[in-house]
Amino acid sequence: STRAEKHHFQAETQQLLHIVAKSLYSDKEIFIRELISNANDALEKLRYMQLASGDQSIADDKREIYITVDDINNTLTIKDTGIGMTKSEAIDNLGTIARSGSRLFLEELKKDKAATDEGKIIGQFGVGFYSTFMVSKSVDVITRSYKAGEPAYRWTSDGSGSYEIEPLVDEVERGTAIRCYLRDDCAEFSKEETIKQIVKKYSNFVSAPIYINDVRVNNLRALWMEDSKSISEDEHTEFYRFVTGQYDKPRYTLQYKIDVPINLRALIYVPQYKPNIFDVTQEADVGVALYSRKVLIQAKANQLLPRWLRFVKGVVDSEDVPLNLSRELLQDSNLIRKIRLLLTQRITRFLQEQAKKDKPKYQEFYEDYKLFFKEGIVRTADQGEKEDIAKLLRFDSSREEHGNLISLDEYIERMTPEQKHVYYLAGPSRELCENSPYYEAIKQKGYEVLFVYESHDEVLLMQLAEFDKKKLKSVESELETDTKKDDTILEGDTRSLSQDEANTLKQWLLKQFGDKIKNVKINTKLDQHPCIITTNEMGALIDNALVTAGL
Ligand code: ADP
Ligand code: MG
Repeated sequence: STRAEKHHFQAETQQLLHIVAKSLYSDKEIFIRELISNANDALEKLRYMQLASGDQSIADDKREIYITVDDINNTLTIKDTGIGMTKSEAIDNLGTIARSGSRLFLEELKKDKAATDEGKIIGQFGVGFYSTFMVSKSVDVITRSYKAGEPAYRWTSDGSGSYEIEPLVDEVERGTAIRCYLRDDCAEFSKEETIKQIVKKYSNFVSAPIYINDVRVNNLRALWMEDSKSISEDEHTEFYRFVTGQYDKPRYTLQYKIDVPINLRALIYVPQYKPNIFDVTQEADVGVALYSRKVLIQAKANQLLPRWLRFVKGVVDSEDVPLNLSRELLQDSNLIRKIRLLLTQRITRFLQEQAKKDKPKYQEFYEDYKLFFKEGIVRTADQGEKEDIAKLLRFDSSREEHGNLISLDEYIERMTPEQKHVYYLAGPSRELCENSPYYEAIKQKGYEVLFVYESHDEVLLMQLAEFDKKKLKSVESELETDTKKDDTILEGDTRSLSQDEANTLKQWLLKQFGDKIKNVKINTKLDQHPCIITTNEMGALIDNALVTAGL
């Protein structure tokens, strides 16, 4: 058309365009997410303008997003009834990459203090629109501003060096329609079913209704953004089932909202079902999705939580996470590390609270999930984090009925003033622990002993090593270090052998065992048992053992 003006992209824009179209995003399909986000922003902006100006003439009947696909002509069109663009806005916002009309809009709003909830606008980097050139031979933007008397324009470009803009004479509705003429190798994006899947994946929680060929596709509320008191248990269950794809229910629900040091909204669930820690399928691996202002960034955001917390499911949303962050960047971003720390601390604190609130329920949860905690303690190198997780552990204790589990905090609370360490004993069963000669020696001192029955518990407690500045000690090692008076028979001790007899016995035992043992010590501490074999380290062989003969 003769009325079309040709413009060249600025040099920087051309370079950036190349990067965006070729490599900024890891998945081509995200161009749909970007266009929907822009359409949603345009609708939000219209709402702000109306609120700010009190202008009733802005028609309020339709706030919707329509997607139409045409798999014969290989096109995809996304249309909104939002704020639209004037000619100069189209030139500025679409002609200049990395210039975000949305960010400028927010800055203006802040000056006006007209809007308090600007968090609803998604765009801020000014690159999303260009993702259309990853899949398009050319792109048409037909737009008409909400401002009275503004004509409609067509902006069109093949994404290389230039674009054209021309006024349209036809009657055009307020808002913007973006038509992508798809490249032959991107024909999949003109298939209704494909687009439906993509919209559901990324934009299911976008506030504006989205229609594909006239059928509504998004209908879920972004519960994590809502007031926790306004959400019923049934709504949680429905949402939980959507995010997990499972059919059970949440056993614990945690909603978390903070604005400093970063903006964070999270809805975290612990499933009812009993997980299998050895399940290595992807689904079992990561349970939280990362969103930014209700738009999906990453479905299985495995950097958001430490591995041991992979059993929790849910959604994490942060306005501070840029939409266009690539997977690689997400992995070692400072922001992600911050989110991870905050979430981990909040979840562990939450579980501790639950333990106090309802002990039997927690104990049931503990039985189902304890292996994850143990894994967490063994895996992390950070002693503070180890002890945080250790607060969640529960133990059988010599002072309690079998099965009435206690925490390390409870143990420490009732330690006697002269007791320095936390004692544990590993054995195959409660009965064998209670009858153990190691236990016998400690019991005489009146100390409580934690009984553990799994072989990995010993590894765990050795790895933990300390809790609340107290050493965790196996009663076996305690017995070994408490040997100042070894080999000395007190004069007048009528229960025992004489010093000479004791020495002879010791020499005889040493000779019998040869190099199978390290040493033999004689003492008078044992009461019910004639002798004990101790090992310095767990799993050590018998050649590292020590025989203590009680006389
Ligand atoms: P961002 O969304 O981060 O600002 P984009 O590259 O996605 O960057 O979009 C650039 C700008 O183009 C937007 O900020 C907005 O001003 C304008 N724009 C894009 N799509 C639309 C639309 N559907 N309606 C009105 N303006 C739009
Ligand atoms: Mg955008």
